[in-house]
Amino acid sequence: IGRHPTPQVGPAKVSGVDRILAIGSGKGGVGKSTVSSNLAVALARQGRRVGLLDADIYGPSQPRMMGVNKRPGSPDGKTIIPLQAHGVTMMSIGLMMDPDKAVVWRGPMLMGALQQMLGQVAWGELDVLLVDLPPGTGDVQLTLCQRAELTGAIVVSTPQDVALLDARKALDMFNTLNTPVLGLIENMSTYICPNCGHEAHIFGHGGVAAEADKIGVPFLAALPIDLDTRLAGDAGTPIAAGSSPMAEAYAAIARRLVA
Ligand code: ADP
Repeated sequence: IGRHPTPQVGPAKVSGVDRILAIGSGKGGVGKSTVSSNLAVALARQGRRVGLLDADIYGPSQPRMMGVNKRPGSPDGKTIIPLQAHGVTMMSIGLMMDPDKAVVWRGPMLMGALQQMLGQVAWGELDVLLVDLPPGTGDVQLTLCQRAELTGAIVVSTPQDVALLDARKALDMFNTLNTPVLGLIENMSTYICPNCGHEAHIFGHGGVAAEADKIGVPFLAALPIDLDTRLAGDAGTPIAAGSSPMAEAYAAIARRLVA
């Protein structure tokens, strides 16, 4: 973002919501949505009242990952009633549109949709609202940082240099918008062969931790490439809902984020 945006209205709290945490990435496909759904479920299992807003307008994957595909109701034609899944109150822009249609919205429409998701959804009382952002540094991120009082952002990256390069742009954006970065997560950080136990750093290793160190923000976790994580996401029951080392890894991040 080259220009400093001038918000027409200052950041506002979402009524009843204690903290808003945005989860961003520089690139798509690094596991941002996987991390968002699993953190939401892990937080809910720790007794938090959790909301998950899927704001990834170009590839909304939370309906699939959380296993919900009902269209949310709106009895009064204004307030949108969110859905419930795995103990999480959730809403996705994907539930309001045809899953097979590509989104070709322009900036103002995106902003309108996001504001609707924040202001018109009956979130109720929440300890934490997680927002799964679209990848990159576009209109949705800008609107969210300007219009909602964010507690902070978490950035997910894979270890490759190209992914890190883009993750740095996302970090830079949050800095410019005065959104505190609460930590970085390296996803797909290593692969352990289920047959022989050999560990391979397919996408490289350690780059995200080094970046966190360099910019002075917490390195929250290195999550491995894990077949069960992918299968669980595809099946609509996040791995964090069960018991496994991965579920424990997400529980540990959740405890750190919302102490
Ligand atoms: P993004 O939100 O960054 O676009 P997704 O969360 O949709 O990324 O993940 C992309 C794909 O990679 C999905 O199929 C997901 O199940 C898979 N995936 C994400 N994290 C892991 C992981 N740690 N191990 C294995 N597969 C993963």
